[in-house]
Amino acid sequence: MPKKVFVAPGHGLKPDPKHPGKTIFDPGAVGHAGGKTFEEHDFNTKVANALAAALRRCGVVVVLEDGGGNHDPNFKGSIKAANASGADYAVEVHHNAAGGTGSEVVVNDRASAANKQLAKTMAAAMAGALGIRNRGVKARDRESFNIETTMPASIPECAFVDSAIDQAVLDQPGYAATVAEAICESLCGFLGVAFNPPPAAPGVRKEELSMADVNDILAKLELLRVGEKRDPAKADPHDFASLEGVARKVDDARGDITWLKAAVKAIAQKTGATLPPGG
Ligand SMILES: [Zn+2]
Repeated sequence: MPKKVFVAPGHGLKPDPKHPGKTIFDPGAVGHAGGKTFEEHDFNTKVANALAAALRRCGVVVVLEDGGGNHDPNFKGSIKAANASGADYAVEVHHNAAGGTGSEVVVNDRASAANKQLAKTMAAAMAGALGIRNRGVKARDRESFNIETTMPASIPECAFVDSAIDQAVLDQPGYAATVAEAICESLCGFLGVAFNPPPAAPGVRKEELSMADVNDILAKLELLRVGEKRDPAKADPHDFASLEGVARKVDDARGDITWLKAAVKAIAQKTGATLPPGG
């Protein structure tokens, strides 16, 4: 019998506390940068759809909740739908906010060792595919989706909608497919299903990493550091705390620095720093 996975995009319609029986739209976390709005629900939906497509390609039966319109307008809609689906696994896709950068996976504190291991694998796969920080597993007893679903479940928090570093990655055209493939491959491993890779590599374009590129980026990061000292009012402390990680990431880069160039640009834009031309 084929394996079945329930996939839901986090947030969407929820009951309106002021008007019983009516619903309101909950976008989840919202970030802003360079005149753009990064709405969590929008990314949750794109990743959930891409994940459903990837899982189906691997022969997995998917029950996909439509968070845009046909969402059960009940606070526990996703849990009810998951439990009614008879799935072997349930995932609710979210994106993070408020003080951080990177990918993490939230599971219930009392989840099985196998599910916790899956969460660990999934977080590393997402962070690796996106080229952002791996924040690992967050095991806690708080999210009702993880507590009340009757099958093993997890909540991938793919990236931060309000981090300049992550926004550069979220802005890539292949973002949703890239992170969805990482989630899909981890899930296939957990379910004992062979991962059938997509025909063409999705997502962030790979490019040759040259020492000149690395030196260029390090020089720009140094410039941003100097700029921060000159005008601390312009700096976002949270972005600059991440600079250490970005610099480390340059050393770790193995042939994909498109996201890194974009991140440097995004931080420069946010802090008002002027970058030398090139890249
Ligand atoms: Zn959320």
